[in-house]
Amino acid sequence: MNPSYQRRKSVPVRVGDVVVGGDAPIVVQSMTNTDTADAVATARQVQALAAAGSEVVRITVNTEDAARQVARIRDLLDATGCRVPLVGDFHYNGHLLLQKYPECAEALAKYRINPGNVGFGRKKDAQFATMIETAIARNKPVRIGVNWGSLDPALVAQMMDENAASPQPREAAEVTREALIRSALNSAAKAEELGLPRDRIVLSCKVSGVQDLIAVYSELAQRCDYALHLGLTEAGMGSKGIVASSAAMGILLQAGIGDTIRVSLTPEPGGDRTQEVVVAQELLQTMGLRSFTPLVTACPGCGRTTSTVFQELAGDIQAYVRTQMPAWRERYPGVEDMTLAVMGCVVNGPGESKHANIGISLPGTGEAPAAPVFIDGEKRMTLRGDNIAAEFKQILDDYVRQHYGNTSPDERGEELPAA
Ligand code: SF4
Repeated sequence: MNPSYQRRKSVPVRVGDVVVGGDAPIVVQSMTNTDTADAVATARQVQALAAAGSEVVRITVNTEDAARQVARIRDLLDATGCRVPLVGDFHYNGHLLLQKYPECAEALAKYRINPGNVGFGRKKDAQFATMIETAIARNKPVRIGVNWGSLDPALVAQMMDENAASPQPREAAEVTREALIRSALNSAAKAEELGLPRDRIVLSCKVSGVQDLIAVYSELAQRCDYALHLGLTEAGMGSKGIVASSAAMGILLQAGIGDTIRVSLTPEPGGDRTQEVVVAQELLQTMGLRSFTPLVTACPGCGRTTSTVFQELAGDIQAYVRTQMPAWRERYPGVEDMTLAVMGCVVNGPGESKHANIGISLPGTGEAPAAPVFIDGEKRMTLRGDNIAAEFKQILDDYVRQHYGNTSPDERGEELPAA
């Protein structure tokens, strides 16, 4: 699907039932924004994220109340058949919570450790060791997740001093990028010294600038073979967050870097948290790296578009396909590779429609009020009147059932081969 793509070799890591790295498909993950102490609200959001396609979900474990609820969240999910692995996000007190709440430590499929705030001074190494020893004892993987906003201050100070004393000092930004990488690699080496196997370590070095992310991960990828979790931290809201994440991660993914991705979008107040999952999936799918949901090709419209019918139909069909996917995924394997086109007029409409499995070309200004439908490159019918959207969905449903269903040829209305 993407002929120039070659994945970087990494050590595969098992996270619950999901594999991150090695030859496994690039994993989509997300994070809740509910209070983990509210088990029902958190389980509901995890379920929504998983239903949208998140293959791993991270929850913050920041307080004793939160840690107490983790096993209950797991139970609530299991009771609904939702097996998505949960990752615990720990800062400052992870060593205490993992020891004091063994059910929490057991219910989680992975622990995220931030070396920048696992502890300070002499306590730091001991607290890091406690978390790693818990992971070893319970056969859990960890993500050593370094973040630009919480980089180990002692390491940065030491590296800045060394840089200032060197005959050819580097730019401060370059030293900071190197500090991020060194923090991740040193922590991973310490975890291995403590006995955590290499195939239970995932690394990340997140920053919020596009060029910084590309520079940091390009370097990190060359210096280790750990599985890499890729993401632009604090990407922002709306189109800015989507564009920045896609620009940075698109370049790195095309270079074969990244075994799991998260798109860190700031939702609108009351907005849908699952948007970050949709964006992550669409990034991988439009790059030809994975398929999740049939994508709708639509033209932008122009002065030839006569009404909003065409925009409404494009939006309606994309939304319809997404809502059908949880059921289609089970019943119609391969349906995620189907392509659709909804076009605004005769200029590019028939041509683009012929490239899709199913395409429709709506009438532009001055054209007859008719919408030809193309199926697998052939014009099969013309829709007219006020019911075009419903009729087009019926054509789509029939196509999915006939081409991806487990039905026999006679059930699909096809001719049986001669006996
Ligand atoms: S296909 Fe037609 S309506 Fe759509 S952008 Fe092109 S010319 Fe405009």
